Amino acid sequence: MADSNPEQGIFSQIAGDHRQRILIVDDAEENLLILENLLAEMADIHTARDGAEALAVAEELLPDLVLLDVRMPTMDGHEVCKRLKASDRTRNISVVFVTGLSDEEDEELGLELGAVDYVTKPFSPAIIMARVRNHLELQKAHRNLRLANEELTRLATTDFLTGVWNRRRFLELGQNEVSRLRRNGRGFGTVMMDVDHFKSVNDTYGHDAGDTVLRALADACVHSLRNVDIIGRLGGEEFAMILPETDPAGVRLTAERLRQDIGQMAVPIGGKNLSFTISAGYTCVTDPNDSIENALSRADEALYQAKGAGRNRTIGYEELKRGMPGG
Ligand code: GH3
Ligand code: MG
Ligand code: MG
Repeated sequence: MADSNPEQGIFSQIAGDHRQRILIVDDAEENLLILENLLAEMADIHTARDGAEALAVAEELLPDLVLLDVRMPTMDGHEVCKRLKASDRTRNISVVFVTGLSDEEDEELGLELGAVDYVTKPFSPAIIMARVRNHLELQKAHRNLRLANEELTRLATTDFLTGVWNRRRFLELGQNEVSRLRRNGRGFGTVMMDVDHFKSVNDTYGHDAGDTVLRALADACVHSLRNVDIIGRLGGEEFAMILPETDPAGVRLTAERLRQDIGQMAVPIGGKNLSFTISAGYTCVTDPNDSIENALSRADEALYQAKGAGRNRTIGYEELKRGMPGG
């Protein structure tokens, strides 16, 4: 967030008070008006006059709360509630029945369908206002928890400096790819990449400049690869990639194209354009009994050879082994 205040920390966006929304559903205009007048200052009010309209508005606006009449022509409130609770998109909306049906069984059914509350008509204005206020507060707390969870998941899975996956998440995604290979038999490529003489970037231009180079490198990988490709920073100046459903020729071409693209980059640092090169090792995973850890160590072995052979090059583990006497 551009205007984020460090005082508020990483969860600053959560504190933002967003105006809540209530959807009132009733086939009687008069009931809509009464409720709307009572609740207008707590939230933005939207109305619907039948079940189909209610579902359409809920789907589109995702209100925090739906006040739902039960007896309506064509589709009754019970059915509306059922459908709201059956859809992933609308499941978290709180439903409060506001109905003339006051039998115990009616109330029990309403609550069993997933409503958080049940108010019978005629209602006391003060009490319905208090209940709605409480439900809105709960919704706000839920929303903030959801956002905090999303943020924690992001922090736990991505690399803080570059925004690509961190080592842990990368390995998980790699393992998913192995599982996929077991199901559909399609192999994938794994690439390990390491910046050449990166220490000299830090030594010459400073650690911040080194960080800028790492960010530029990650961006270049993101732009150069397909959306389905998986990029991770395994540590330091070491990045790894998984290229799903890619044959050996495709893996070789991709690694080589990345090396060339990165070699042509110019990263502006302290008034100068800094260029650098990378070395990479790659391997193909075609055996369903393989693991991502094994694939990474093969790619790492090829990377080590690429460094030893003079850097700024890509070497495939399988080619390496084929080229070796007796290999
Ligand atoms: P080689 O060509 O053999 O890979 O040489 P190198 O200098 O790149 O390799 P080496 O592994 O010796 O150095 C890696 C350097 O990366 C050392 C370390 O200070 C630096 N480094 C690791 N993580 C970070 C980081 O997050 N930011 C910055 N700026 N530097 C980092
Ligand atoms: Mg290096
Ligand atoms: Mg290194």
